[in-house]
Amino acid sequence: MDMIDRGLSEEQRIARASCRAFVDEVVTPFIRRSWQREWLMDPDARLPHAILEGADKIGIRTLGVPAELGGTELDAASEVQTFALIAEEIARGDAGLADKLVQNWKVSVLLRKLAPRHLQERWFQRLVADPGFLLAHCLTEPRGASDRWLPYNVPEAAMQTRAVRQGEDWVIDGRKQFISNGYDAGLYVVYANTDPKVGMLQGTSSFLVPRGTPGLTIARCNETMGGRFMNNGELVFEDCRVPADHLLVEGGALGSAGIYFRPGKIIQAAKNLGVGMAAFERTSDYVQTYVQGGRILIKHQAVALRLADMATRLAAVRALLGSAARAVDEAAPDADALCNMVKVFASEEVFKVAQHAMELHGGNGVMLDFGIEKLLRDAAIFLHMDATADISRLKIVKAMFPATAGSYAGPEG
Ligand SMILES: Cc1cc2nc3c(=O)[nH]c(=O)nc-3n(C[C@H](O)[C@H](O)[C@H](O)COP(=O)(O)OP(=O)(O)OC[C@H]3O[C@@H](n4cnc5c(N)ncnc54)[C@H](O)[C@@H]3O)c2cc1C
Repeated sequence: MDMIDRGLSEEQRIARASCRAFVDEVVTPFIRRSWQREWLMDPDARLPHAILEGADKIGIRTLGVPAELGGTELDAASEVQTFALIAEEIARGDAGLADKLVQNWKVSVLLRKLAPRHLQERWFQRLVADPGFLLAHCLTEPRGASDRWLPYNVPEAAMQTRAVRQGEDWVIDGRKQFISNGYDAGLYVVYANTDPKVGMLQGTSSFLVPRGTPGLTIARCNETMGGRFMNNGELVFEDCRVPADHLLVEGGALGSAGIYFRPGKIIQAAKNLGVGMAAFERTSDYVQTYVQGGRILIKHQAVALRLADMATRLAAVRALLGSAARAVDEAAPDADALCNMVKVFASEEVFKVAQHAMELHGGNGVMLDFGIEKLLRDAAIFLHMDATADISRLKIVKAMFPATAGSYAGPEG
């Protein structure tokens, strides 16, 4: 199921072709050859540095960084659509590698809008110079993520991580969990409660916290079932002091995070589509070459029906992704609802696609060295990232019917 180039600009065609070549020539052969590697329990040893260097060479590591600071700047009118195109291609090779890279793009978009110029210069230069440099975005805490996504705007649901101004510094105390690149990032964007008397929409602030800041401990690397080349981590902040200019947004940080989340949900769905495309490509090859009962599998009608179902689901995800990405690029009024729709729709459709892939591969489908079960594990992760399926649906209703939608928690609303 080759993708049609309908409507792609020259810039997008070139970006997709170089990404596809990198995935086909470097990433996929590595994953197939070294299938045990994702199970190494040393997070630093899992992904060879050469893979990030390869991504760097084709310019996809620093998307979102302004060109004058050394990044790869995309046409602003279609930036999010191009993010989607490239995220899909990388995830076609490996979902974890895609997770690792897209965090840099998503956080770069946020920094270029919110960070003071001297800190942009400092951190974008570090990011551009070091192929292993990663960024992370830390919201989720042991006592809550879903309430923050809704958001349930009352003091009881506010962030437990606190930040208090002391002289020229902000002092952060608390804990963050499930953070993409949390284990190995060089710079963290951290959300903390700076006013416990008000709801989280008014009382949450965001800060830049460099790795190595005294009081920041990387407590552990989570061992996830899928996307294992991205090192998801847990962070502890104890009397962690950052200078006053490291405050990005005071009070209204959750509202400003839309800069991160709208492109973020598009990228999430696009990575998810890449996993689905990999499942489809592998399966369509298999059913046209593997013989059972004297015939290649595709000649068995039950197999053909499942293949058609996979293709239809992927085409539907692609169509919705295209509309949602355009809506974000155009800052359309329905962009919020569409972002949540495509994030949740992609996660459920592609999970089903990966299930078909595993079943059509029969016994081979569950063997680690065959590599198909990995796609099902990778697909499962998307159900949980950037809000759960149920919370995403509640957000769709909230975006569409803000005046009458429920507040879902707390007093009758
Ligand atoms: C691989 C991975 C990467 C991630 N990366 C990041 C990251 O980079 N940064 C970050 O900040 N977070 C990250 N997360 C966290 C992610 O956003 C949360 O896991 C997700 O939002 C769900 O929150 P939770 O795990 O605390 O679930 P909970 O909030 O504990 O929810 C548990 C269940 O209860 C339901 N539920 C809870 N509250 C409500 C409610 N009020 N109404 C209805 N249903 C409710 C949920 O839908 C879910 O089914 C990541 C997670 C994963 C798995």
